[in-house]
Amino acid sequence: IDPAKDVAHLIHPYTNLDAHASRGPVVIERGEGAYVFDSNGKRYLEGMSALWCASLGFSERRLVDAATRQLATLPYYHVFNHRSHPAAIQLASRLTAIAPEGLNHVLFANSGSEANDTAIKLAWYYNNALGRPKKKKIISRWGAYHGVTIGAGSLTGVPAMHADFDLPIANVVHAEMPSWYHGARKGESREAFAARMLSSFEALVEREGPETIAAFIAEPVNGSGGGVILPPPGYFEGIQRLLRKHDILLIADEVITGFGRTGRMWGCDHFGIRPDMMTVAKALSSAYMPISGTLVSDAIHDAMKAESRKIGAFAHGVTYSAHPVCAAVANETLKIYEERDIVGHVARMSPRFAERLAALREHPLVGETRGIGLLGAVEIARDKAERKPFDAASGVGPYIQARAMEHGVIVRAIRDCVAVCPPLIVDEAQIDELFDGLRSALDDAR
Ligand code: PLP
Repeated sequence: IDPAKDVAHLIHPYTNLDAHASRGPVVIERGEGAYVFDSNGKRYLEGMSALWCASLGFSERRLVDAATRQLATLPYYHVFNHRSHPAAIQLASRLTAIAPEGLNHVLFANSGSEANDTAIKLAWYYNNALGRPKKKKIISRWGAYHGVTIGAGSLTGVPAMHADFDLPIANVVHAEMPSWYHGARKGESREAFAARMLSSFEALVEREGPETIAAFIAEPVNGSGGGVILPPPGYFEGIQRLLRKHDILLIADEVITGFGRTGRMWGCDHFGIRPDMMTVAKALSSAYMPISGTLVSDAIHDAMKAESRKIGAFAHGVTYSAHPVCAAVANETLKIYEERDIVGHVARMSPRFAERLAALREHPLVGETRGIGLLGAVEIARDKAERKPFDAASGVGPYIQARAMEHGVIVRAIRDCVAVCPPLIVDEAQIDELFDGLRSALDDAR
């Protein structure tokens, strides 16, 4: 393997392309359980499940066999024009059976971004079907991460991801992210902060005009955009009351939080969220194959059928929607989750994870820790008492990330925050290994 060829030809997402020319790539060659190995043979505990996705780790034989069997039987077919195939049918029924109540229909695609683009299009389509052509705005949140395509990239509320890409598109507006650490006033309780976020949200809805708003999209627990932000108490209850009042759809983005990551099957389960649509990807196939889904309620599906009676075919879908090999791997993944009680395992590992995460709060560089299930983050602070971050140029996050790799663990820097999201199969010793490595990296940064 010649790293110079990487530099010459491979464009790397979310990478400083100028710096890459001199730094070159870290080449990961193989995986085993929760570990990956680079081209020098160095072993890392993958404390991020790569990109919050490889939930069953990197050597699950059953997924390899499921893919191989499907490749040998029917490597590709589609689900356009009334066609179907067994893996698609099985996956649609298996997934809707475990989905939050009422989400009985699913449309598959390849990535979380496409799933969220689909959700936007369906919110528009639904309102057109209902004869409400003005009800089209989608409210997302600053700090949200919903992907990078033109629609999903617009929903993403990170200005750096809009800059020079001419995003966001029209009809997307952003509400505040209810991050108590970043947004609370001095002395403000979490409850008071939640109430303030809700009135700010209500003011936004009134300002925009509820009759122009189709949907609100949120991650039950914000992942990569804001750095694992948990909603303050009462937030989603209040949001849902307001959405119901104004007949605004709720889209839950469970791309990170789905399939047991939080210690329950869905992030929605923790906060009483009853979505009209839900998007999933990543752990749907443990990342072994690219597949995502947009699940919708009966009411939305009824409106879609009504449109077909009126205008004919539902004119949306990608070539690889419900790709047989991806669907077969997803089916096997969901079977493994059930047979091995992965959600229960996460719930059993959560106390150790929470304890080790919380212990980092005493570290002089840590302003706050946040976590749920096997998902967590530490907030790096220059001034703990004042919750002041380092300035953007300090590079403290990337430095900690790099030091953690030296210590054999992979974590992810998100601005002034360092996230951890290990494979769902980790045991307590591996949780200790992850936090030992992170603590050493934090010590290096002192
Ligand atoms: N939604 C959430 C919550 C995500 O974290 C991500 C990716 O990290 C996406 C959507 C986009 O998924 P993809 O990168 O597969 O397009």
